[in-house]
Amino acid sequence: MATAYEAVIGLEVHAQLQTASKLLCSCSTKFGAEPNENVCEGCAGLPGSLPRLNEKAVELAAKAGFALNCTVNEYSIFSRKSYFYPDLPDGYQNSQFTPPICVHGYLDVTVNDRTRRIGITRIHLEDDAGKCVHGQAGVTLVDLNRAGMPLIEIVSEPDMRSAEEAAAYMRHIHTVLVYLGVTDGNMEEGSLRCDANVSIRPKGSETFGTRVEIKNLNSFRHVRQAVDYEIERQKACLEDGEPLRQETRLFDAARQITQAMRSKEDAHDYRYFPNPDLPPVIVTPEQAAAWRAEMPELPHARAARFVKDYALSGEEAGIMTQDAYCYRIRKYIGAYAFAMGGLDAIVFAAGVGENDDAVRAKATQGLENFGIKMDHARNNGNRNECDLSTADSKVKIFLINTNEELAIARDTYKLCK
Ligand SMILES: [Zn+2]
Repeated sequence: MATAYEAVIGLEVHAQLQTASKLLCSCSTKFGAEPNENVCEGCAGLPGSLPRLNEKAVELAAKAGFALNCTVNEYSIFSRKSYFYPDLPDGYQNSQFTPPICVHGYLDVTVNDRTRRIGITRIHLEDDAGKCVHGQAGVTLVDLNRAGMPLIEIVSEPDMRSAEEAAAYMRHIHTVLVYLGVTDGNMEEGSLRCDANVSIRPKGSETFGTRVEIKNLNSFRHVRQAVDYEIERQKACLEDGEPLRQETRLFDAARQITQAMRSKEDAHDYRYFPNPDLPPVIVTPEQAAAWRAEMPELPHARAARFVKDYALSGEEAGIMTQDAYCYRIRKYIGAYAFAMGGLDAIVFAAGVGENDDAVRAKATQGLENFGIKMDHARNNGNRNECDLSTADSKVKIFLINTNEELAIARDTYKLCK
């Protein structure tokens, strides 16, 4: 009889922090600059330059920690993580080894109505490496714009048991961090990416199998596909009596397979040692309390409240609070509310179950009854923005034709008042 296997999965999620300047110098973090435009002697690793820690990065890391139920350490330090790569001019990465800024968190992840608690070992601050651009005729160019970009790495316990759980965990982190403004979450630009550690073992066994790391997964779908592929590949190896190697693999999305890249280093290979140029990171209890007080209601708590207040299903409330589409509605309405000085009113034109045209006609008619003449109606492809405008654009109208939008509108209107 074939052995039944169980997958053991842990994720290391890297999120680029939404700060104006880099982690240890004042160079800009703006995306899309000319190669080597945002580089100084510090992030170019020139001898004699001294790093200076960006306080905003510490604040964002701590807020991520609060959101993920971590303890934020009062004392943490930066270490040098040594390795050689042409786009790493210092010869080491600035990272937090021990102690890091946040420890001992967790996240509850629901897949198929089953909720499991995934432990979060640690969150540490680190900076990014530059980029090698492999050009024509065998020429390789180095672009250091990305060198020194502020990141947090969120390391989970090996608590996930399926590819679906891994994808759900990453989605949850994405939702929370974008909501908090910790990262812009733009996965195509690499603002959020993860490495997945995957092993398998006979069901019921307590010992870990040989671990394989899949690097640089930058979409939820790739996480699911790569982990699924890797679980099946490892099963096939064990069934064939082939030994598994501890190694790093890359996911080839086009071919839907993972491929060996190099054998995997252990932590001691990096020769971590405390960076003598950087003082310890101190987060006083007063500072931690002040940052915690700034935390908004988080999406999942908000979803739970929507279920209660608006009699929505958990799924509906989840879509409303997690989906990027709904996030946009929240963001725009929130922004307009802040700009209320220049606005007379925000109008939610509602017709649940009706199409946009019907809701738009209703809104136009309703406003004309109040003497407000519509002079412009448009559907610019992003219907959450202004679909209708008046001559002086002092009234913003949002079309609503689903229960989810209605609930958001009600909830946001309450917040705006
Ligand atoms: Zn710099």
